[in-house]
Amino acid sequence: MANISDELKVIVAGEVDNSDETLEKFSKDASLFKVRPEVVVRPQDTKDIERLVLFATEKKKKGENVSLTPRAAGTDMSGGPLGNSIILDMTAHFNRLVSLEGNRAVVEPGMYFRDFDAETKKKNLEMPGYPASRNLASVGGMVANNAGGEKNLKYGKTGAYVEALKVVLADGETHTIKKLEGEALRAKLAEESFEGGIYRSVAAMVSKNRETIEKARPRVTKNSSGYALWDVGDGKSALDLTKLIIGSQGALGIITEITFSLVTPKPSASMVVLFLKDLNELGTIIPVVLEENPDSFESYDDNTFKLAVKYFLEFAAQMKLGIIALGFQFVPEMWMLATGGVPKLVLLVEFRSHAQEESFKKACALKEKLRALKVRAAVRVAKNEKAAEKYWTIRRESFSLLRKKIRNKKTAPFIDDFVVLPKDLPEFLPQLTAILAQYDLTYTIAGHVGDGNFHIIPLIDPNEPGIRTVIKTLTQKVYELVLRYHGSISGEHNDGLIRTPYVAQMFGPEMNRLFQDVKTIFDPNGIFNPGKKTGTSFNESFKLLDLPQ
Ligand SMILES: Cc1cc2nc3c(=O)[nH]c(=O)nc-3n(C[C@H](O)[C@H](O)[C@H](O)COP(=O)(O)OP(=O)(O)OC[C@H]3O[C@@H](n4cnc5c(N)ncnc54)[C@H](O)[C@@H]3O)c2cc1C
Repeated sequence: MANISDELKVIVAGEVDNSDETLEKFSKDASLFKVRPEVVVRPQDTKDIERLVLFATEKKKKGENVSLTPRAAGTDMSGGPLGNSIILDMTAHFNRLVSLEGNRAVVEPGMYFRDFDAETKKKNLEMPGYPASRNLASVGGMVANNAGGEKNLKYGKTGAYVEALKVVLADGETHTIKKLEGEALRAKLAEESFEGGIYRSVAAMVSKNRETIEKARPRVTKNSSGYALWDVGDGKSALDLTKLIIGSQGALGIITEITFSLVTPKPSASMVVLFLKDLNELGTIIPVVLEENPDSFESYDDNTFKLAVKYFLEFAAQMKLGIIALGFQFVPEMWMLATGGVPKLVLLVEFRSHAQEESFKKACALKEKLRALKVRAAVRVAKNEKAAEKYWTIRRESFSLLRKKIRNKKTAPFIDDFVVLPKDLPEFLPQLTAILAQYDLTYTIAGHVGDGNFHIIPLIDPNEPGIRTVIKTLTQKVYELVLRYHGSISGEHNDGLIRTPYVAQMFGPEMNRLFQDVKTIFDPNGIFNPGKKTGTSFNESFKLLDLPQ
């Protein structure tokens, strides 16, 4: 391929950067992959993106391998923002809050969530679908992955708060996509335009394949795998194409603006903390906790616990504590470690309300119920948000700390995000641990117990012979187990390069064909982020791993 940087410099107003340093940086995200792009463009405005789409289309039609991969903060754990052609860095110029009126915010996709959150909090509002990477990720990456986190149990994921999207589609024009019903839908279906054609094709697809689509609907509460065809509507009375673009990892078009609806956060919280010695007791505990309708039901395992004690200085720094307060905070954990009392799993159950007494009352009521069960678990109540901060910090920051601190080993997200129904966990977890025990791996488990969504992060030595085979066989075994329980391979981290090869296995060949059709309907020339969601085989994916061959 000819050097396209010079050509791009003529057509776009934003920066075109093919420096070695930039290309190296954009070759990686938080996944196991490395893909070096040809050039990074920082689009100045929507017109720049429209020009890039037309440029890539023309090149593609001439048989040149040019594509556009949007990237925001680059914290994706699946390889979603990696591509070998043109990367669009959306954080450089698409990072403004456009408006914030009532409970509605209009924002550009490259704005960091932490900045967005600071703005919405000024009006006592928030978008509650945020991930644990809330201080690192952008709102665009969150929408494109349909990211989720600690508040999903009550509030759902990021996608649930998207009202409308502006998207540059394959015709090189910017379109406003939102749910259409009645006359508005009829008019759109009759429109002689590229967008009208997309509406007609998707409407025909959902009407013709209703049964297949309904059968493929994930039975778990969280899913980011595939395209959410089961949520778009019947195509006759309603059609909501935002549901396909949310979680599409940039494979259907480039998002340039997001309209979010926001909620008023409940200011007070109390937490029940369970230090569980025996995973088999989860079966008794989970239904009792869920009956109490908590706002969050989260967990972390013994390895995360030990990591927290080992690096308690770093955790405490995150919590902005002084040295004495800090030591005091971690005394109970140090004691448990010293006396061999490290729990197998720490469960965090948070109740939020508008008054402190109310959430404290709920937490105490749950504590009593749990005590009455006589399970082998120490139960504590953290009365308010301050008292619960340590547990939240360990839960949120453990992956970040693993990435920063562990030398000679690499965090390896490949079974990092599966979901099963919480009621199946007591049966599922022993089988999962039996599979993991077949491998000599150190790993941490953290998860959203309330949603049955678990993040297992092994630490691998990249130079260990046979590590690729471990990744391949372990993934296969875990996903077979997950699918036997009708679960999802990804609750929130999405398919990317790591899971796209397993999408057909999860949804079946018929549904996978519909996913391929969705891609072709939106992106007939295949210019948008190729190989994500569809179109990457096991072999192709494995070739791109950033591990010695
Ligand atoms: C420490 C850590 C903790 C994490 N915890 C969580 C968690 O709890 N929950 C969770 O869901 N994820 C988590 N992640 C993964 C990741 O942070 C999220 O998925 C996040 O939403 C990605 O946002 P980003 O801005 O980094 O996007 P990127 O990584 O830059 O991109 C993500 C995807 O979005 C696409 N994209 C970006 N911008 C656009 C656009 N404008 N138009 C179309 N497509 C676009 C990209 O092509 C890519 O496929 C974690 C990651 C880390 C490193």
